Amino acid sequence: MSRVTLAEIEAAIRNVPDFPRPGIQFKDITPLLADGRMFAGAMDHLLAGIGRDEVDKVVGIDARGFIFGAAAAARLGCGFVPVRKKGKLPWRTHEESYDLEYGSATVAVHVDAVRPGERVLLVDDLLATGGTAAATVSLLGRLGARLAGIRFVVELSFLAGRGRLGTAPVLALVTY
Ligand code: AMP
Repeated sequence: MSRVTLAEIEAAIRNVPDFPRPGIQFKDITPLLADGRMFAGAMDHLLAGIGRDEVDKVVGIDARGFIFGAAAAARLGCGFVPVRKKGKLPWRTHEESYDLEYGSATVAVHVDAVRPGERVLLVDDLLATGGTAAATVSLLGRLGARLAGIRFVVELSFLAGRGRLGTAPVLALVTY
């Protein structure tokens, strides 16, 4: 287990009021990333209880999910798959749209990124309304992936995103 506590990880996340819009409390993870001990400690906690032989692919969500997801894949010695905003991936994709407060967004994944039956760990920096993660869960379902777990650094539990993510176990390091 990590020598970095979850309280230290929480203290390394900066709250920025009214960014990018009035009323939003933005959870800025860049101070955590800039501190090698905190970043490594966050990775220890994110991967707690997951064995190297239990996951085939880590899926990270555009863009901050790439940071933690790629680090997780390198630690586990497994592959990394990016789920990106629509229009960024060059090969054939599956796409899934979801509602935002104003308008909608679309996430995409390469059709051959995960083989049917592969065990996938989904990683993102933050769970808010759960729209992004829920759309990614359905993309992974279309690929035939087996979702081993979903892990976030931060969860805004008052937005109840967790309830939209299906049956895979969800873990968050810091909850507001
Ligand atoms: P959602 O689809 O509502 O769960 O939003 C998730 C995505 O939006 C995450 O990948 C975050 O990067 C970003 N996000 C949403 N709310 C915040 C916030 N308060 N602070 C930082 N990032 C946020």
